[in-house]
Amino acid sequence: MKIIMLGPPGAGKGTQAQLLVEKFGLPQISTGDLLRGALGEGTELGIEAKKYMDAGQLVPDDLIISLIEERIKLPDCEEGYILDGFPRTIEQAEALGGIDNIDTVLNIVVDTDVLMGRLMGRRTCRGCNAVFNITGRPSKVEGVCDQCGGELYQRDDDNEATVTKRLDTYNNQTAPLIDFYRGKGILKDVRTGKEIPETFGNVMMALGH
Ligand code: ADP
Ligand code: ZN
Repeated sequence: MKIIMLGPPGAGKGTQAQLLVEKFGLPQISTGDLLRGALGEGTELGIEAKKYMDAGQLVPDDLIISLIEERIKLPDCEEGYILDGFPRTIEQAEALGGIDNIDTVLNIVVDTDVLMGRLMGRRTCRGCNAVFNITGRPSKVEGVCDQCGGELYQRDDDNEATVTKRLDTYNNQTAPLIDFYRGKGILKDVRTGKEIPETFGNVMMALGH
């Protein structure tokens, strides 16, 4: 099963992807996590990517495409995978189409007025990348990950100016993928519910489970 999670920043793609990982045992491939990991290791790619991420812009297609190409060649991807944050441009989608066949694109549909608040309240685990929210979904102990006990932090790009820019970037460069994949007949819209499990119910329904 090869799945793409599509939707604006703050839609909950990563959270739903993690639930799919638990359910199906497939790897979650988050380009954002890969880039932040590269930065943490101080690689050239990470340092280059940070300039764009901090500005709320997309990292150049060629960098991201080669990153993904390498990742989905690894043996753990043979049975399938969940792409979270890729593709984000038509060019990326076309490149992916030349590498592999995707089964389903889950388009997470969410009211745009909730996105800003969610992104500003987001806290991410340094250890396992789990995502919490200080208002919507707080960790049991403030600043500590429920899953691994790691430290929660606020991402550099979860500030008002960068978030505003990221939402623009989504509308201009990524939203066209909705029609692109609808035209291929593999897009499923997923309404977000009030609670995470309700949304996950919609995800499972979209997958025919
Ligand atoms: P969110 O979905 O909340 O915006 P991500 O962690 O997916 O967060 O992405 C953070 C940043 O990483 C993006 O704003 C962008 O700069 C970069 N990035 C992630 N995925 C891609 C991609 N597929 N193409 C280009 N840039 C990307
Ligand atoms: Zn953790």
